[in-house]
Amino acid sequence: MTAALPLSLFASERVYARIYPQAVANNLAVLKRTLARDGGAHAPRIWATVKADAYGHGVAQILPGLRDADGLAVMHLTDAHICRDAGWCGPILVMAGLAHASEIALLDMPGLHLLLSRETQLQWLAAAPVLRAPPAIWLRFRGDIGMIGFDADTYRQAFAQCLALASTGRIGAHIGHLNHFGSAERADGIDEACARFTAVVHDLPGPRSTSNSAAIMRHQVHAVATDWVRPGLTLYGASPLADRTAADLGLLPAMSLHARILDIRTLAAGDRLGYGGSFKAPMPMTVGLVNCGYADGYPRHAPAGTPVIVAGQLTRTLGAVTMDLMTVDLTGLIAVVGAPVVLWGDPALPVERVAAAMGTIAAELLTGLTRRVPLLTVPMR
Ligand SMILES: *Cc1c(COP(=O)(O)O)cnc(C)c1O
Repeated sequence: MTAALPLSLFASERVYARIYPQAVANNLAVLKRTLARDGGAHAPRIWATVKADAYGHGVAQILPGLRDADGLAVMHLTDAHICRDAGWCGPILVMAGLAHASEIALLDMPGLHLLLSRETQLQWLAAAPVLRAPPAIWLRFRGDIGMIGFDADTYRQAFAQCLALASTGRIGAHIGHLNHFGSAERADGIDEACARFTAVVHDLPGPRSTSNSAAIMRHQVHAVATDWVRPGLTLYGASPLADRTAADLGLLPAMSLHARILDIRTLAAGDRLGYGGSFKAPMPMTVGLVNCGYADGYPRHAPAGTPVIVAGQLTRTLGAVTMDLMTVDLTGLIAVVGAPVVLWGDPALPVERVAAAMGTIAAELLTGLTRRVPLLTVPMR
């Protein structure tokens, strides 16, 4: 619906996100340096996690920034085909494996790695045709999150089934072992999870994959010793650790969200604003109306006081976010109608800080932009 409008109109009048593949390239380089601390001879390979359309940034938009990744990790087989169509020729890990028996038809793609978490997926594969390039298989250990995967009692049985399947040529000989940590941001958050994983896989052949962003940044020694790591959030420039900012870690935001001041109003002390009069001015105030709302993906539950930047000045939201509009405090600021607003992604306003003010996490905001918000890619230098 909006696609036919000129980009210059978006850039001046509408909510839009800027996407920076150059920042993704920078962040990937930061991760590589972090993982090469032992000299780099045995640095793990990197599955660049691009599930949820690259955390809301658009896979095709950020792909130029991922040229140095060893593989892409997506959620669904259909996403793997989208990555191929967008020009990615390297390995692709499909984290949901097969969602349904009918997805067998999507397996005919060289470089495919399937993560299996359930017995039924093995049964579907056993009934699959033999392909020229059968998929590589990874088994998911249930781990400390406990949500999905084979547990300590079923894992080795699943591995034996994989060996049998590999001998029929339906899957590749490569069978890897994958664990995902639930508390990696804590200093002692992976010890027990590692011990339980190792107890199950210690004598099995095949590569290991552990470590999301938090595990890489907090447990570098462990991450360096694994074969493949799987960063997501850090690639997009957000810190996964509450006590380190993205800037501390050398990360650059890959998305910024922009809007405009539509109108400026002066409130007397006691004046009310918004549905149900949700905001009551405690003193005379200048208020800016911003053309962004929850239908754009700025959460309705964002409390008054959430930080925003108006014309380069840090200020805060007031009252409730509506479908299309929100209000910000302009008292004492220099701002005119049409002034630019940055909702997150400015170096002075990292998305994780905005998320913390809303009681959520950066990944929820980044993946929550709606179709109404155009993504304007800033080409790589
Ligand atoms: C999402 C996901 C990741 C990436 O996590 P981040 O915290 O964004 O780095 C890694 N592994 C698995 C299995 C995931 O689901």
